[in-house]
Amino acid sequence: MIERTLSIIKPDATSRAITGKVNAMIEEKGLKIVAQKLIRLTAVQAEEFYQEHMGKPFFPNLVEIMTSAPIVVQVLQGENAITEYRKVMGATNPAVAEEGTIRKTFALSIDKNTVHGSDSPESAKREIAFFFSELEIYE
Ligand code: ADP
Ligand code: MG
Repeated sequence: MIERTLSIIKPDATSRAITGKVNAMIEEKGLKIVAQKLIRLTAVQAEEFYQEHMGKPFFPNLVEIMTSAPIVVQVLQGENAITEYRKVMGATNPAVAEEGTIRKTFALSIDKNTVHGSDSPESAKREIAFFFSELEIYE
């Protein structure tokens, strides 16, 4: 099934100027970038986007990091894109991520882990709508 997922190239990657390298890995794995923009999140936006993690010990640090520099938000499209992109990203903690994944290759730590990807069809729908109107997504 052709799906769409929401990807974020996080501040640790934009600040190291490796967004092109991350995009190259995404495209090499057959995921198509059908929408993309560079933005800077406010704390309120970051808190709302990551609302499922509100109250967890790492939440304040997560908001701090996600607002520390611009991010690239993108919609990826492809066969089983949600699950496929999670595989391309690798585990949340780069120390245990598989070889060849984005996080194994580029992440600095569990909190500066280079990319975000939606974890379910419901999250993908909410997260895509959070950043993009239907008109901004290439068919
Ligand atoms: P993922 O991004 O792989 O879906 P989660 O949804 O569990 O992971 O967490 C969201 C983000 O919060 C992670 O990508 C990471 O930036 C941060 N995070 C998660 N767990 C921790 C932790 N134990 N310590 C610090 N930051 C964390
Ligand atoms: Mg998650």
